[in-house]
Amino acid sequence: MSTQHVHAHERREGLLSVEEARERVLSQIAPLAPLQLPLQEAHGCVLAEDLVAEGDIPDFASSAMDGFAVRASEVAGASPASPVELRIVGRALIGHRPESTVGGGEAVRIATGAPIPAGADAIVPIEDCEVVGDRVRILAPSPEGKHIRPTGEDVRGGEPLVRAGRRLGAPELGLLATAGISHPPVHPRPRVVVLSTGDELVPPTQRPEYGQVRDSNAYTLFGALREVGAVPVMAGIVRDDPEALRETVLNHLVQADAYVSSGGVSVGERDVVKAAFFRRGDVEFFKVAMQPGMPQGFGHIEGKPYFGLPGNPVSVFVSFEVFIRPALLKMMGRRNLFRPQITARLEADVSGPVGKTQFARVIVRRDGDGYVAKPTGGRGSNLIATVSRANGLAIVPPGVEIAPAGSEVDVMLFRPME
Ligand code: AMP
Ligand code: MG
Repeated sequence: MSTQHVHAHERREGLLSVEEARERVLSQIAPLAPLQLPLQEAHGCVLAEDLVAEGDIPDFASSAMDGFAVRASEVAGASPASPVELRIVGRALIGHRPESTVGGGEAVRIATGAPIPAGADAIVPIEDCEVVGDRVRILAPSPEGKHIRPTGEDVRGGEPLVRAGRRLGAPELGLLATAGISHPPVHPRPRVVVLSTGDELVPPTQRPEYGQVRDSNAYTLFGALREVGAVPVMAGIVRDDPEALRETVLNHLVQADAYVSSGGVSVGERDVVKAAFFRRGDVEFFKVAMQPGMPQGFGHIEGKPYFGLPGNPVSVFVSFEVFIRPALLKMMGRRNLFRPQITARLEADVSGPVGKTQFARVIVRRDGDGYVAKPTGGRGSNLIATVSRANGLAIVPPGVEIAPAGSEVDVMLFRPME
């Protein structure tokens, strides 16, 4: 009786807005300490320090054409009518220091990418040459520097390569490899331990007895974690036993940068996450003025962020989008934490609970200059298929009870429009 009274009281007094709750979470999240990771692992991660080129890139001058390395001054007057004849004194090969030098009246045969021999200052492409025995007839002039890739043309030694805060994509990996930076300092991908709480749960490989439920949340979370660039660690189903939950959580400590559990955070006496961690003061439980996803737990277990999500499948998805995704992006050192939002015209009424933000599952498409959004089904937090049909969450703000067809709403796009 008294418990119920306390909760009714909390509900009125202690409801946080979505923004307050998100701020409360994000203010307690810090970027993961940088690690020097091999380039393949650093892909997609955020660079933690400015990187500078140690030397010139490229660090030797090379030919941009197959042809002959010459002295520009000697071929200045060359033409088919009055070719300049030079003696071929050697060959410049790719990957080797040229042995020959180009002196007066001399030329060195050169391949694309081969270093420029000493004495030469221009390349004559093979099309403008006629080889006769050990001599070459140059049929066109080639000014100084022509077809030569100079040192430092791409980046000069001491110049910035990639700035801190930049996410390493394909071009950055190539650039760092060129610069000889094989282990750049980056914010690593968080390893996130995923737990499903509930005596009723069975793995999807098992046929549920009457009343049992397949654990879907672990898989929703697995996909969401992968998509945001985190590394899921699947810890499986945990019974509604606080001792068992504590043990599983602590057993995974060495593999965890963060935890996400689903279920067991609402007001029932069997709410296992609360029972396991509330009294220790590690995890705080609060109610957010949102639907779905009202009860949330958040705190730190041995310094690792712990997200205690409600059990309903849609609540899990929405809570991940609203709280966990931005938090993980912050851990990864990213600056843009939020999904893109667009404004769309509703194609049907969407009703929201009084005083709460409603995240309504919608499918958005382009329509002329704007966007239209169609609800994909009912409001129930158990209806995961409504998420599967959607590409966005329409945000119906707390004051709005019914957003009528034809009105405009903000939509968080969680995947591209088709
Ligand atoms: P709870 O928050 O633990 O009271 O769970 C709320 C509802 O979500 C109940 O109907 C649970 O059976 C369901 N549920 C909890 N965890 C899962 C899960 N991992 N997969 C699917 N449904 C779940
Ligand atoms: Mg439960």
